[in-house]
Amino acid sequence: MKKYSIISLGCSKNLVDSEVFAYITESAGYKLTEDLQEAEVIIVNTCGFIIDAKEESISTILEAAEFKTSGKCKKLIVTGCLVKRYFEDIKNSFPEIDEVIQLKDFNAFKGIFRVSSTEKRKLLTPPHFAYLRVSDGCNNYCSYCAIPAIRGQLESVPIEELVISAESLVASGARELILTAQDTARYGVDIYGEQKLPELLQKLNAIKDLIWIRILYLHPAHITSEMIDMIARLPKVCKYFEIPIQHINNEILESMNRKVTKERILEIITDIRTKIPDAVIRTTLITGYPGETEQKFDELKNFVKEMKFERLGAFAYSREENTPAYDLEPQVPEEIAEQRKDELMQIQQDISEEFLAGLVGEKIKVIIDRNSSEEGFLFEGRSYFDSPEIDGVVFITEGKAGIGDIVEVEIIDGWEYDLIGRIV
Ligand code: SF4
Repeated sequence: MKKYSIISLGCSKNLVDSEVFAYITESAGYKLTEDLQEAEVIIVNTCGFIIDAKEESISTILEAAEFKTSGKCKKLIVTGCLVKRYFEDIKNSFPEIDEVIQLKDFNAFKGIFRVSSTEKRKLLTPPHFAYLRVSDGCNNYCSYCAIPAIRGQLESVPIEELVISAESLVASGARELILTAQDTARYGVDIYGEQKLPELLQKLNAIKDLIWIRILYLHPAHITSEMIDMIARLPKVCKYFEIPIQHINNEILESMNRKVTKERILEIITDIRTKIPDAVIRTTLITGYPGETEQKFDELKNFVKEMKFERLGAFAYSREENTPAYDLEPQVPEEIAEQRKDELMQIQQDISEEFLAGLVGEKIKVIIDRNSSEEGFLFEGRSYFDSPEIDGVVFITEGKAGIGDIVEVEIIDGWEYDLIGRIV
């Protein structure tokens, strides 16, 4: 049996593309293997939106290329966002690559294998959860961001199509659907002329056997009270708000073209906390954006201390060519940006530890993701406030469950970002 491997880098939107590439490869008679040594075809779906991601993509391509000599690899295929940004450079700089396929160019990919398969998805997540990409592309044009130039204009998927995809994912075992996009809150404005996330959530909430609906990437400029009310009302929607705020100083927010003010962000947080007492808010922040003085950073630090986000990620600003922020002055030295990022994460570690310690003795719902390889633990899972790969894990010490089950867990201890519990 011919085998292939696929390495999907970057975000969940890119993972959905990888699942289509995987489906096409399997329709050509290949079987998926995690062992790159065994793979006759290796596909690298790259990420290219910030410096760190670009470096990771390049080192992954070079590592994969080694299997053309040390392994069975006969064909190395590279695609994704890095290709969209640097097509000619990649074509000319990596003789090891056999096929450079443009972002989402599924037809060209089919051409490699001479197949005419449909563009369905071969899930690369465990079957009990799946991503549902409600739109791709973005029209927000934040000053530091290369994504609109890479993934293009906002393109929403019609509600009917999403409901059909969701039903088929649930029929194949998904109990948790994770809604993803560049800006999920703007879902539908391009095809319906208005935001349609609340209506979509209502439709998805009606799907039998679907248990959890998780929403990622709610841009604060586009969150409405109606959305918060709908999330509060629908039982299957996790009370988990993933809201990339990026900064809190009004001058910086304006320079970033975030189209939202500090006052509005505080309003949204108050609205969520008032309407949904057990809501969990995750945010991401950028440190070292051009013009971020010590004073503006202090404002950001105090904001993090006051808001006590349950989940938070911080990133040092990445100076990206062909973005408006690239030419802004004064640029903040990289080491300062990194120091500030570390400072925020230190503050957040204490906040997260305090939040998780406060859950000891509580009973919460947990989805079982896998058997644990950690000594003393049976399973590893996620609570309603843990998104795969970006949040924490719940380590289970005792009880019976199957992979994909959503069970009641009594919390017996907490670490910085993870919990320990037993099934009750
Ligand atoms: S919302 Fe802003 S940061 Fe996010 S993808 Fe769009 S332009 Fe980039």
